[in-house]
Amino acid sequence: MTKHIFVTGGVVSSLGKGLTAASVALLLTRRGYRVALQKMDPYLNVDPGTMSPYQHGEVYVTSDGAETDLDLGHYERFTGTPCTRNSNYTTGRIYSSVISREREGGYLGKTVQVIPHITDEIKAAIRSLDSDKIDIVITEIGGTVGDIESLPFLEAIRQYRQEAGRDNALFIHITLVPYLKAARELKTKPSQQSVGILRTSGIIPDMLICRCEKHMSDEHKDKLALFCNVDRNLVIEEKDVTHSIYEVPVELTRQDLDVYVLEMLKLHVHSLNIDDWKEMLKRLIKPGNGTVEIAVVGKYISLRDSYKSIYEALTHGGIANNVEVKIRMVESEDVEKQGAESVLDGVSGILVPGGFGDRGIEGKIASVCYARSRKIPFFGICLGMQCAVIEFARNVCELKGANSTEFDETTPHPVIDIMKAQRKITAKGGTMRLGAYPCRLVKTTKAHAAYSNDEVSERHRHRFELNNDYRDRLTAKGLVISGLYKDEDLVEIVELQEHPWFVACQFHPEFQSTPLQAHPLFREFISAAMKGSA
Ligand code: GLN
Repeated sequence: MTKHIFVTGGVVSSLGKGLTAASVALLLTRRGYRVALQKMDPYLNVDPGTMSPYQHGEVYVTSDGAETDLDLGHYERFTGTPCTRNSNYTTGRIYSSVISREREGGYLGKTVQVIPHITDEIKAAIRSLDSDKIDIVITEIGGTVGDIESLPFLEAIRQYRQEAGRDNALFIHITLVPYLKAARELKTKPSQQSVGILRTSGIIPDMLICRCEKHMSDEHKDKLALFCNVDRNLVIEEKDVTHSIYEVPVELTRQDLDVYVLEMLKLHVHSLNIDDWKEMLKRLIKPGNGTVEIAVVGKYISLRDSYKSIYEALTHGGIANNVEVKIRMVESEDVEKQGAESVLDGVSGILVPGGFGDRGIEGKIASVCYARSRKIPFFGICLGMQCAVIEFARNVCELKGANSTEFDETTPHPVIDIMKAQRKITAKGGTMRLGAYPCRLVKTTKAHAAYSNDEVSERHRHRFELNNDYRDRLTAKGLVISGLYKDEDLVEIVELQEHPWFVACQFHPEFQSTPLQAHPLFREFISAAMKGSA
C-alpha cells in the first residue's frame, strides 16, 4: 500500500515548501524507497499555462506534456524522477472534472457539493499516483493555511488520514519562525497561531519544519512542541542555507528528519546513501576552476522565478565543469535602449531563453548578433532559437525584414512561422506543442558531440517553428541543422560551424537538467564559455 505525506505551509507564502518537499523526497529515496511528489494549487486556473510568468513564475513542462507549477522542477531536480500530469492539480482542474461529470449525468438525482464531491475528487487526485511501484507519495498543498481557497484541500487530507490511518498518512507543517531585529529574538507565536488555524480544520501536524534566519534554541523548540502538540524531536529547524538550495536535504537529515518520517510511517529505516550528493555540493560550493559570467537576456528578468529552470541548469553546467556560474540578468529592452556592447560587455556566454510576444524581441536579436559576430558562446532556447534564425536570415542571408509571424504577420520573409497543426487552434489552454518528442541528431555537429547519441528526447512548449521554405537559403549561408523531428520534418536544433559554440534549440533542455547530471547542452555551453574567458 502506498503511504502518504501531506505538506502544508503556515504564516507566509514563499517558505520554500516545494524545496523542502523535494528534499524530504530525496532523503527517502536515498533510504531505498520509491517516492513520487505532487502539488495541489488552490487557484481556479485549470493549469498555470495561461498565466504570465510575473504572476506565477516559470511554467514547468512535464514529459507527458502538462503545463505545471515550477515546484515540479524542484521535485525532478532533487529526485531525478520524472513527474506526470498527475503531479499537479489545481482547484480549477478539480472543479472542471466534477462539473463535466455533473453535465454527463454522473451525479443524477444528487445535489453536487464541495463536501463530498469536491473533496472526493481531491482524494482521487491524491490517490492518482498510488501504484505498486510507489512506496510513498508526498503531496504539497499550495498556499498558506488560513486561505479560504485551501479549505477543501485541508478537509480532503483530513479525511484521507482518517480513512487511511496514522501509519499510512502523515502531516508535515512548514512554518516561519521570524527573527525580530529590534528584540534580537526569534518569535514562535506566528507558528503557534498557524498550527491553531490548521487545528480548526481538524489537522494536528505530526512534524513541524521551522524556516528561520537564525538557529533556534532548545527553549524555542520546547515551546513549539508544547503549544503545537508536536513531539519535541519532531520540531525540525530549517535555517536559511548559505550557498545553495541543494544543501537543504543535508541539513534536514542532520536532524534525522528522514528517520522520524519512516518511523512514523512504520517503514524500515534503511541506511542513507547521499555521498554523491555531498560530493556535488563540494564542487558547487568550492569550484576549482574560478568563475564564468553568463548573460541571460530575457523579458521577465525582474522576477527570478520566471527563468527558474534556466538558472538552475546553468548552475548544473557549472557543477559539471567545476566552475562557478555567475548570471548577469539582462532585460532585453535594455539592450534595445543602451546597445548590446554596453549591456553585454565582458560576459563569457550569452543565453536567450524562451518567451512569447514581441516586447523586447529586437533586444534579443541584437544580443544574438553580438554573440555571433564577436564569437561569444551562444545558447538559444525556444524563442531564443527563433531569434537566432531571424538574426541569421537578416544579417547573413540578407533577407531584409525577416521575422517570425508571431511578431510581424506581414513580414516579407517569415523565417519562423506558425506550425501547420496550430493554425486552426483558437483555445489557449494546453494547446501548444507540448511535452517530449524524439529528436534525431546529425553526426559531426556540436549537438551530437554534446549528447554522444543519435537520438534524444526533449520537452517542448511552442506554436511556431523554423519555416522549411527557408531551409535551403539558411543552410546555403552556413546555418547547420543538427537536430530534426523526423515525423514532421521539424527543425529542432541549429548551430554554426565557424564559431566556438553557437547552438540553439526549439525545445527546453533546462527541464531535464539535474545537479547530479547537468544537461549535455548546458554542460558544453559552460565549457565553451570557460575556454573563451581563460
Ligand atoms: N513564442 C514562441 C512559440 O510559441 C516560443 C515559445 C517559447 O519560447 N516557449 O513558438
